[in-house]
Amino acid sequence: MISLPLLTVITDFDCLKHDTGGGGHPEVPARLEVILKCLEESPLLPHLKFVASRLARRASLLLAHEEDWLFRFEEAVLFGKSHIDHLDNQIGYHTYQVAALAAGAGLKGIDLLEAGDARQIFCVIRPPGHHAEKGKPFGFCFYNNVLIAARYWQEKYGRRRVAVIDFDAHHGNGIQAGLERDPKSLYISIHEHPSFSYPGTGFAEEIGTGLGKGTILNLPLSPGAGDDQFLAVMRERVEPFLEEWRPDCLLVAAGFDGHRADDMSGLGYSTALFYQIGKQVSSWGKRFAGGRVVSILEGGYELSVLGESVEQYVAGLLACELDI
Ligand SMILES: [Zn+2]
Repeated sequence: MISLPLLTVITDFDCLKHDTGGGGHPEVPARLEVILKCLEESPLLPHLKFVASRLARRASLLLAHEEDWLFRFEEAVLFGKSHIDHLDNQIGYHTYQVAALAAGAGLKGIDLLEAGDARQIFCVIRPPGHHAEKGKPFGFCFYNNVLIAARYWQEKYGRRRVAVIDFDAHHGNGIQAGLERDPKSLYISIHEHPSFSYPGTGFAEEIGTGLGKGTILNLPLSPGAGDDQFLAVMRERVEPFLEEWRPDCLLVAAGFDGHRADDMSGLGYSTALFYQIGKQVSSWGKRFAGGRVVSILEGGYELSVLGESVEQYVAGLLACELDI
């Protein structure tokens, strides 16, 4: 039997082609470059396998988005517009294609896991996705990569009980909006308190609606919160929630902008925290979700710490196997 690499990293050099126009926009191609360079130079490299992404099909995009938005997006790119709806959502000639490539990474990862051709998946892609709404872009995001993956896992493989864990510094309003009525899926987000932070959603009182009531767990942290506060909510709130719900699979919205050096949030995480998060997520995957874990990159904008933060997260994902 051929032994599988411990982690399959799904990425694509074409993700560098999404041009946010310069002018100080923080969501730049160099984000991916620093991450990939760090992983390629890492002692973890022998345990990683790099695989190219694939374009998400239209039918998959429509699991989370309205067709009107797909047309509007394509039209804006074809007309050579510089942004859609807000200056945050900068677009270039390749953006429509690249966004489908970013959304396709999670789907490819799920297919590999379900076929027994991978053990754990990490998608290193851009643009990010967790702010994108059903019918519009939001906060650098065009397609909701994690939400599309969640729906795909449910639809194609019948894994109805999908749990999403989002540790980006910002609340994933788009994921919550997509899942909050679903009684079988969970959305758990640890983020800077919405009174102080973009996008202004993610209060603890938002717990889901209708049949989905009780499936959303928002855990806002005060500005300045660091590793201890983060780890305490993981231990005291997230673990019991997962234990109670026993999901079929885990999706992770992996954002690194809570780092103390990243000025996109007021949170104060250390680089080493991301190792702890990776280790915890991987062990929960084994305990509660049959080992099925797919992580998808969201934010993280401070280039001087982003590569190392992601490397720490990857080390955490591999910690149980490598005894590190
Ligand atoms: Zn963020």
